[in-house]
Amino acid sequence: MIVWLDSPEAQGRNFIFLDRDGVFNENRPDYVKNFQEMKFHPEALDALRVLKEKNISVIVVSNQSGVNRGLISWDDFWGMHDGMVREVEKAGGRILAALYCPHRPDENCECRKPSPAMILAACRIYGIIPAATWFVGDYDSDVEAAKQAGCLAARIRRPGESDEDCARSGVPVFSNLLDAVLSICG
Ligand SMILES: [Zn+2]
Repeated sequence: MIVWLDSPEAQGRNFIFLDRDGVFNENRPDYVKNFQEMKFHPEALDALRVLKEKNISVIVVSNQSGVNRGLISWDDFWGMHDGMVREVEKAGGRILAALYCPHRPDENCECRKPSPAMILAACRIYGIIPAATWFVGDYDSDVEAAKQAGCLAARIRRPGESDEDCARSGVPVFSNLLDAVLSICG
């Protein structure tokens, strides 16, 4: 588990957990491997500004198995992280912390979502109450991790995903992060 903190203390008591690829930026079947491949959703950047205005601290929780698959160098990994932090700040938002799992599924680590370990680690660091905190991702593994941590879960609809698949996840599904934030953090 890789833990990056912008600050060890949050400004307020409200938090939101966000997956990265597919939520902040377009996902890719061959993994988002470097900053040039990070195509940010404009609505997501708007949503991050709205979150800062509402004094809700943002914590990113992301599986990045491309690292241990040998597809993403550490330089590119941190280049994506730094680039994300910079883009969000440019849009008027802020990332408080980011937790990443670099492992492949076959490594059977403790941190990879659907494990709730990264969420629970962030909860310990900041004294977050899971039951009062949303997690927004784009896969059922995000929903599963959120539920196991005791968080509220919502999902972003993936490109081309059917209404049936959305309904099957059993949680609110939104077309983008801005819709999600305006609805759940209203
Ligand atoms: Zn891991």
